[in-house]
Amino acid sequence: MKRIYLDYGATTPVEKKVLKAMLPYFSEKYGNAMSLHSFGREANEAVEKARKRTADFFGAKPEEIIFTSGATESNNLVIKGVLKALRASDLRLLEPHRSIKKPHIITTAFEHHCVLDACKSAEKKGLAEITFVKPNKEGLIEVEDIEKAIKPNTILVSIMYVNNEIGTVQPIGEIGKLIKKATKLKKLIFHTDATQAINYFDCDVNKLGVDLLSMSAHKIYGPKGIGALYVRKGTPIVKVQDGGDQEFSKRAGTHNVPGIVGLGEAIFLLKNKESRIKNKEILELRNYLIKKVLKEIPDARLNGFKKFRSPNNANFIFKNIEGESLILMLDKEGIAASTGSACSTGSLQPSHVLLSIGLKPEEAHGSLRLTLGKYTTKKDIEITVNKLKKIIFSLRKISGKVLDDYYLNKS
Ligand code: PMP
Repeated sequence: MKRIYLDYGATTPVEKKVLKAMLPYFSEKYGNAMSLHSFGREANEAVEKARKRTADFFGAKPEEIIFTSGATESNNLVIKGVLKALRASDLRLLEPHRSIKKPHIITTAFEHHCVLDACKSAEKKGLAEITFVKPNKEGLIEVEDIEKAIKPNTILVSIMYVNNEIGTVQPIGEIGKLIKKATKLKKLIFHTDATQAINYFDCDVNKLGVDLLSMSAHKIYGPKGIGALYVRKGTPIVKVQDGGDQEFSKRAGTHNVPGIVGLGEAIFLLKNKESRIKNKEILELRNYLIKKVLKEIPDARLNGFKKFRSPNNANFIFKNIEGESLILMLDKEGIAASTGSACSTGSLQPSHVLLSIGLKPEEAHGSLRLTLGKYTTKKDIEITVNKLKKIIFSLRKISGKVLDDYYLNKS
């Protein structure tokens, strides 16, 4: 049975060119990038080449790129590292005359769990006050809501670029302008988790107006366990794990040289023409998928605004369907999809993202996320929709929630 992978939002396969670039750094060029001898220099050169490529992609300087183990670590470093830096300096780093008793962070209710939980933990420890701004029903954050949330003690605003479940694209550039305006009165740090945006959207940090940006290589056809954090020069942030002085003393630990090389190659490949053409094809296939599902499957709805949406994302709810059963039955047919986010699979909690856009828990349980990628074909979409139609029909039949006539007349 040919398997169909429609879970590129969870992870992507490593591109062959990326793997080829990485291979020598496992057992031929295996030096520690911090060592002073030739083995170390060889590894260090590769790390610096990858850093330059990553910086170029973001319109940044190489010394503003810190390699981490992925977006989870980058995001943790942002929330914890900024709070720690400000504590260490009695908050004087931001503005000498600003007297802040407890710093305030603005984020959104539908961030990835690594941001949400880091914020909640800081709040619980009494280190910060947090505002979780809710998206509107379309899955978009309103700039005015961010503006309204800014308080005299606000120090950090962290808003994701593309939501990992419903794919909606947030107005990061607009929020960046707002922050810049607000910063004239008091310095605000602006962070975006761009993990799901890198493949498809402009991530120039100056155009976006961000001070910090997180990313992960495994979402862009690079390896797992490696990511980066862009840190604008002068942004107060300190390392949160003790150890060596790697990464400009902002992230301790021996460099994952093959991983860093892989990240550098993967991000470099995103800039080529072939990749832009592929993205257009992905968008067309995704639109075909949405059209077909909404036309051929009764009681199906698309979650999140269609227009401001990642080209590879489709997220549906099907009435009277359990998302978990749907995933298992699709898997039996060789089709890989997800319900809620991959990271929360295993928990029976309805998706916090779907709840945040106003869905009821029972509706949120019937969600399906299909995320396309560069190896998705039209045939994959056709097979998937046909299988989906049959599975949904049989699941509804088992639960006695369907009238056969309805389906017969439709098909
Ligand atoms: N943020 C977002 C928006 C994500 O989609 C993910 C991955 N699901 C992460 C953070 C975590 O990334 P990583 O797997 O690199 O830790």
